[in-house]
Amino acid sequence: MEGKPEILFSKTVIEGRVRELAGRISGEYAGKNLLIVGVLKGAFVFMADLVRGLDIPCRVDFVRLASYGAGSTSSGKVRITKDLETDIAGRHVLVVEDIVDTGLTLAWLVETLRQRQPASLRVCVFLDKSQRRQVPFTADYVGFTIPDAFVVGYGLDFNEDFRFLPDVCVLREIA
Ligand code: 5GP
Repeated sequence: MEGKPEILFSKTVIEGRVRELAGRISGEYAGKNLLIVGVLKGAFVFMADLVRGLDIPCRVDFVRLASYGAGSTSSGKVRITKDLETDIAGRHVLVVEDIVDTGLTLAWLVETLRQRQPASLRVCVFLDKSQRRQVPFTADYVGFTIPDAFVVGYGLDFNEDFRFLPDVCVLREIA
């Protein structure tokens, strides 16, 4: 594997920020029937920490998406390869995703889920590469805004490696 990952956010820094986000979400969804929808695979670590930081009840479900086209950049043509098992009509849905880059994937997912008529639909992303947007997309909750670099760890991969790393690291050599 080329390049040694360099730490961008340590485990300790991540823990603090996830606790803050969980506190905000708990306050804003108190008394509501919250369904957290994780986007596989990248969001699995963030989502696991986030739900354990909540002090309100929630249910969880998952979607898995695939992007048509080659390479690591998003084409905007997205399809669902594993759909929700929950009917979200009338539910308060919070989508949890690892990272928003061009915005194409989440813009598509939000539009797709909105057609199923949830009571509310918000998005929580762990990382936001806000400079890279190709379509307007603003997440309701953001862990960290980051510059244009390729990051791995804390659930994020490069060719399925590095998801297990407890820190978020930058891979320098593959941009
Ligand atoms: P978007 O449609 O916003 O361009 O792409 C979002 C998806 O691209 C993310 O869910 C993730 O799979 C992938 N992605 C974008 N930037 C990175 C990155 O820096 N590291 C990793 N591991 N995946 C990324």
